[in-house]
Amino acid sequence: MKKLVFAVLLTTSFVMLAVWQRHFLLFELPGSSAPPPLLDVVEESGSSYWYDDYFLVDQIDSQTFAIGEPRYYQQNFSYLILGTESAILFDAGPGLRDIRPVTNSLTDLPITFIPSHFHYDHIGNTITFENVAVIDLPYLRRRAESNSLKLTWAEHLGSSEGIAAPTLEIDEWLPINSSLDLGERVLQVLYTPGHTEDSVSLLDTKSGMIFSGDFIYPGALYAFLPTSNMGDYLVGAETLLENAKFDAELYGAHRSSAPGLPLLATEDVLDLRAALIAIKNRELEGSGIFPRMYKVNERLDILAEPSWLQNWVPDSKD
Ligand SMILES: [Zn+2]
Repeated sequence: MKKLVFAVLLTTSFVMLAVWQRHFLLFELPGSSAPPPLLDVVEESGSSYWYDDYFLVDQIDSQTFAIGEPRYYQQNFSYLILGTESAILFDAGPGLRDIRPVTNSLTDLPITFIPSHFHYDHIGNTITFENVAVIDLPYLRRRAESNSLKLTWAEHLGSSEGIAAPTLEIDEWLPINSSLDLGERVLQVLYTPGHTEDSVSLLDTKSGMIFSGDFIYPGALYAFLPTSNMGDYLVGAETLLENAKFDAELYGAHRSSAPGLPLLATEDVLDLRAALIAIKNRELEGSGIFPRMYKVNERLDILAEPSWLQNWVPDSKD
């Protein structure tokens, strides 16, 4: 009998341990207080130039610039997208340095800042932008009194690097699938949740170029964070595929190795969708305990919770 009680207790503790993994993350993350030291400068590609000793600029075409932070350990890339009348800055990095002098050196047009999502390494944190536009989701609107949106810990996660969650002053709410007319250039706002419930991608309707934030980039995709959802990830992949040209270029928000931009193609989104469906059907084996790593292709992996903790019911976002 004692043996049975011991066995039950042991099993229960293992189950509890697994269930509380996500909460360990909550305790773990606030433990750090500063970003790691800057990485050394490495040889970058010939198409790019250093703005200073921190920001790297790469001109994708005459009206599109990638602004990299390759010395920040997460190797962020933000994008300045110009029309003839206005410009969009998609993401702003962690705010270790102010990105605005870089964007101002590249255009005189009025710039609207759109975060791909609210994680601390994308919103610039202490940097104040003149115009801020975010995805129009009912639960965000409800929270945003007088258009001031105080980000939650789970949305922001900045405590991992000692960065407090800021309040965003929102000038414009972007309905899902709405169009942004920059003058002779139109961007469509695609809702691509999965990595977080507030993630968007931008589609350049003419060139087919897609800016995909943390939804998809070369490397390991994080699908196990506090507002991640595997069902949403599949919905987001479907949305990208409905809108992506067969040979679209997708520019992500992080690169996993130097040099070059975090560039992917439509076939990577096809592979992502196939992998998600295979994970859902328990046909693709992962490795590791938490998070589990699932190989998508040579360029992509998905980091997810173990299968029995994965949530495949898309969130309603009401
Ligand atoms: Zn993120």
